[in-house]
Amino acid sequence: MSSDHRVYSYSAVLMGSPILLKLFSHDEALASRVFRLIKRYEDLLTVNRAHSQVMDINHAAGQHPVSVSRPVFELIRCAKAASLFKESAFNLAIGPLVKRWKIGFKGDSVPPAAEIAALLSITRPEDVVLDETSGSVFLAKAGMEIDLGAIAKGYIADRVRDYLRKEGTTLGLINLGGNIQTLGSPEGGWHVGLKKPFAENELIGSMTVENRSVVTSGTYERYFEQNGKRYHHILDPRTGYPLDNELDSVTILSKESIDGDIWTTLLYGMGVEKGCAALRARPDIEAIFVTKTKEVVISSMHHFRFTLLDDRYRVTDNTV
Ligand code: AMP
Ligand code: MG
Repeated sequence: MSSDHRVYSYSAVLMGSPILLKLFSHDEALASRVFRLIKRYEDLLTVNRAHSQVMDINHAAGQHPVSVSRPVFELIRCAKAASLFKESAFNLAIGPLVKRWKIGFKGDSVPPAAEIAALLSITRPEDVVLDETSGSVFLAKAGMEIDLGAIAKGYIADRVRDYLRKEGTTLGLINLGGNIQTLGSPEGGWHVGLKKPFAENELIGSMTVENRSVVTSGTYERYFEQNGKRYHHILDPRTGYPLDNELDSVTILSKESIDGDIWTTLLYGMGVEKGCAALRARPDIEAIFVTKTKEVVISSMHHFRFTLLDDRYRVTDNTV
């Protein structure tokens, strides 16, 4: 590698996750501005603190609409649209269930079934009422809560890419706790690891991408065990319980990281077969499913390359 292709890595902890920025020039000032940008978005969108624009909406549930800034409004509109897809497993109004389960946080345990059933009635995405002219959001029922945890990192990763581009950067990578967006392509592409579920720092394989986002959602990311059963953080909005299927993880390769973030949840709900069928209508979005039986199913591979590193896994390339 020539000296002008040296990689400079900058790291921070934001949104409760390790954040990594890779640049091809030494520019600490730019890295600080990127981290500040991420922090500004986190401050608007978080539901893990008492105050943010999203929390202002949540606090006013059942009472009154709250006007929010344009990016917040647009992101909520996008999250609502994804929630209203037919049989969507994505639900921006899942907040009350997420808060009740507390998966991966102190005090997590399986809630009584009656409580889950009661909370389901205040998680309807239709009850998130948007008013375009005033840019306001109203949660129609008391106790409702928006949770953008399944989409915010993707959105922010795209904003970081746009910002780097605007600043004249031609090569960069941002990793928001496993949610990766890239700008340009170094020689040979960017190499992104596909994590082995429930193993620290082990890889199943490696993806090579250019100008693309790579987002993974995995049941191994956050979970707890009770009576020998594992409960993970991706909830089924139809039942109120963690999605139960053949999957350990789903990775999406797409142009926009927000699409990747939404589609990992959608595909978690669909499973491998329905998921691959649904993606035939979306050639811009490609998926890698990792199943509990150590299969790696690739929906299509037009925009990336995959190299298997762990031969205990079998690869099925569904590309027709
Ligand atoms: P991700 O890491 O993108 O898969 O998002 C996981 C986070 O999204 C969880 O920690 C919850 O905050 C939230 N979440 C859980 N289940 C759902 C769901 N069905 N729809 C939307 N967001 C969800
Ligand atoms: Mg997501």
